Amino acid sequence: MTEFEFGVQHYASGNLAAESALAAGADALVVGAGFAGAVMARELAERKNQKVLVLEQRAHVGGNAYDTLDKAGVLIHAYGPHIFHTNSQRAYEYLSRFTEWRDYQHEVLANIHGVYTPVPFNFNSIEQHYEPAKAAALIEQLEESFGLDTKVPIIELRKHSNPLLAELADFVYENVFLHYTLKQWGQKPEDIDPSVTARVPVYTGRDNRYFTDTWQGMPLQGYTPLFDKMLHHENITVVLDVDAREFLTFEASGQQNSAFSQILLAGKPFAGNVIYTGPLDALANTAFGLLPYRSLDFAYKTLPQKHFQPVGTVNYTVSEDYTRITEFTWLTGQDLELTTIMEEYPLAFDGSPGQVPYYAIPGPENQTAYERYLALFNALPNFHALGRLAEYRYFNMDQIVERALELADRI
Ligand code: FAD
Ligand code: UDP
Repeated sequence: MTEFEFGVQHYASGNLAAESALAAGADALVVGAGFAGAVMARELAERKNQKVLVLEQRAHVGGNAYDTLDKAGVLIHAYGPHIFHTNSQRAYEYLSRFTEWRDYQHEVLANIHGVYTPVPFNFNSIEQHYEPAKAAALIEQLEESFGLDTKVPIIELRKHSNPLLAELADFVYENVFLHYTLKQWGQKPEDIDPSVTARVPVYTGRDNRYFTDTWQGMPLQGYTPLFDKMLHHENITVVLDVDAREFLTFEASGQQNSAFSQILLAGKPFAGNVIYTGPLDALANTAFGLLPYRSLDFAYKTLPQKHFQPVGTVNYTVSEDYTRITEFTWLTGQDLELTTIMEEYPLAFDGSPGQVPYYAIPGPENQTAYERYLALFNALPNFHALGRLAEYRYFNMDQIVERALELADRI
């Protein structure tokens, strides 16, 4: 059985601790202790020998990748299931300094009217839903049109004129994408940015894995110990339970809503680098209104049985109000006689207290609204907006790690 070691490191917390850390002096400020903030803090502390202060508003490090043991002793992810996968050797090797890996290849099944179907929808999925002769014809046609082991976005497949493929596209659209996407985004697949549904293509082969990246797996002891190790450095001070906006303010020389000309830290001009990984609209007091995000509610259940479902995640693509159920022990490899599952309920983000802006909603209009905020900060050479929130992009963990390393190269 894998044993998880939590609570390796203790952090200071609260505004008083932040005040005394600021009084002690810092060369750089990092807002947020998720992947963007933690990698930047480590890089500035280690590579540039700077004293780094990290302020995190939550009671823990790790950002949305934070994991913890629940009351039953099951290692759970507090903000949705996180599976590490990458083709970036740099990101993989960097994180490998702070963790060993458990080899884990994530598989997802769609529950289509009770039939567990591999997603991405592939040749095996076809054979579950069509009688053998028809399935063979569909597979042959897919292979002829796209080649073997190719990822075909559903939006592309739907444009195909071949009647067999058009029929298949309709089936997959209706049974895999339409209802799930309506739940997740409140919009139809054709009305959201095509890059979103292209993340989960139709696959012309028999590989049932959700990701085909070179490196994939789970941190052997969990994500939180990985963060503890990354942030454990003599030049890094982390303070939790602090909203950085209490200390980090901006001065503009022009009219209301004109670009900022100076960063103030605890009311005094600050010339060090500021790495900000939270939402930009919040930092500018939502001067131009809330940026659109999707949020999630999570419902956890601990059950007195070894397993609830056959794989780590089951997507409910035609039924239920939740999008998916994740059973963590499949991901982590914990060997227990009970199990904890989690349902995800999407909702629109309205900025109410406690609500988390999990997903930026990609698209030209929202990008323009985001860039209006970014322009406020553009004149500040020592301000860096980094990460999934601050850059308003749908990034995976490995992309954030890479971007943080690249920013550290540039600074
Ligand atoms: P975050 O992790 O959001 O960290 C930002 C931190 O800044 C937060 O801790 C926040 O509290 C803090 N903060 C914000 N404002 C302030 C403030 N004013 N003061 C102090 N602190 C502040 N990626 C994968 O690669 N694989 C997956 O399987 C995967 N699954 C996901 C599932 C879900 C449901 C979600 C939402 C995301 C998933 N991701 C996955 C994406 C992954 O979570 C992100 O890529 C990654 O966590 C982004 O790191 P970040 O540091 O940019 O942001
Ligand atoms: N999607 C879907 N059905 C599925 C899986 C994915 O419609 O069974 C669509 C949906 O719009 C979803 C998007 O593809 O938001 C991206 O899925 P992914 O699993 O990458 O989402 P994440 O894990 O980032 O929430």
